Amino acid sequence: MKSFLEPFRIKTVESIRVTSREEREEILKKAFYNTFLIPAENVLIDLLTDSGTSAMSAKQWAALMDGDESYAGARSYYKFEKVVKDIFGFKYILPVHQGRAAERILFTMVLSKIDSSGRYINDGQGKYIPSNNHFDTTRANIEFNGAEAIDLVIEEGKKPDVVHPFKGNMDIEKLKRFIKEKGCENIPICMLTITNNTGGGQPVSMENIREVSKICKENRIPFFLDACRFAENAYFIKTREKGYENKSIIEICNEMFSYADGCTMSAKKDAFANIGGFIAMNDDDWYIKCRNLLIITEGYITYGGLAGRDMDAIAQGLIEILDENYLKYRIESTKYIGEMLLENDIPIIRPVGGHAIYIDAKTFLPHIPANQFPAHSLTCELYLTGGIRAVEIGSVMFGKYDENGNMIPADMELVRLAIPRRVYTKSHFDYLVDILKEIKKYKDKIKGYKIIEEPKFLRHFTAKFSPI
Ligand SMILES: *Cc1c(COP(=O)(O)O)cnc(C)c1O
Repeated sequence: MKSFLEPFRIKTVESIRVTSREEREEILKKAFYNTFLIPAENVLIDLLTDSGTSAMSAKQWAALMDGDESYAGARSYYKFEKVVKDIFGFKYILPVHQGRAAERILFTMVLSKIDSSGRYINDGQGKYIPSNNHFDTTRANIEFNGAEAIDLVIEEGKKPDVVHPFKGNMDIEKLKRFIKEKGCENIPICMLTITNNTGGGQPVSMENIREVSKICKENRIPFFLDACRFAENAYFIKTREKGYENKSIIEICNEMFSYADGCTMSAKKDAFANIGGFIAMNDDDWYIKCRNLLIITEGYITYGGLAGRDMDAIAQGLIEILDENYLKYRIESTKYIGEMLLENDIPIIRPVGGHAIYIDAKTFLPHIPANQFPAHSLTCELYLTGGIRAVEIGSVMFGKYDENGNMIPADMELVRLAIPRRVYTKSHFDYLVDILKEIKKYKDKIKGYKIIEEPKFLRHFTAKFSPI
């Protein structure tokens, strides 16, 4: 069955400004061929990210009105804390303004020493933090603190056309070897991203979470989940892992988090919120240290950089994300796009992940070498032809330079089409597929790009390009 039910009605709409190809050529040139630099009103279908772009429900808007803006101990905080504890189960919850703030606090804490006068001194040199794949801000926060971020995803997770039900799994043998080689004293924490955003929105199995947890316990390494898409991951476990068919989503979530010592969370993903996040943990000492860091830059412990009403929206969103009918629609609608693309011989990562479709640009544009950024080219083409904004996840985002200034390319050259939650309809998805079919007709003529200006960290956000 190709159809799927969108389990919601549209109650409020936002108009899309329709542009012509000529207008878009001008706009892209002005943005130095970096789609991050295009004003959003010039985009028809914005698939740049599923972060903070969700449509809030009527109940979330109603919850906003009930927000309590007290500085300390707001009612909104307690509501938020209760919902988070019911799902995640950790002892301490600190709200933050978004996921990367949780990461900054966590990695500043684990990669520093506190001297006798209470000062934080960076202690990241020679430390390693493994994960299946670190998300880009997670990696940046680790590297910024002087440590190395290590990706240990299973081999299947690196191969775009290999089908595996849990391509986000950590490679258990590699993790064991890695700990032995580097020594657990040099690994202050181990992470696992569910679902694995960088690796294609691929889920991690319960068995894998349990095994990683066991290895970490044996080596006394604290284990944290990067929980941004926890509900999508839980739905995949329910539909793909034996023994979970009859469990509820919340039961699966409770079990996933029971294996971890804490988590970082961006509420801009699986909480239907436009802003917000939290860091959660069980350890008393870590909590006190994180609390200090929170107060320095985010705010007091019962609001952490959020308005009270934001915490209300998150609390309601977390209740709604557990709805199995929503998750079914979410996974099926994303799969629908993927299947339509495959039918038209447009290469994508299989199986389709939860929140996004990843086009394999290395295969789609084989005539463009990695140092001319094939995935970036396709991203520009999607905008020019269809006004669709996507994001490059390839050598622009993850390429590095060796000592001679030659680029070391990323493993994969991907274009991510991230699907905002509850925002676009099936007609928008059909339009997207039609645009890619159009591009396919002239794909051999598409040219590469070169970088003309770039910052040292996270260059994909602001780098400037010119066509070759
Ligand atoms: C989005 C995201 C983050 C960072 O969260 P922000 O709210 O964007 O700061 C961290 N990890 C993963 C897996 C993400 O998808």
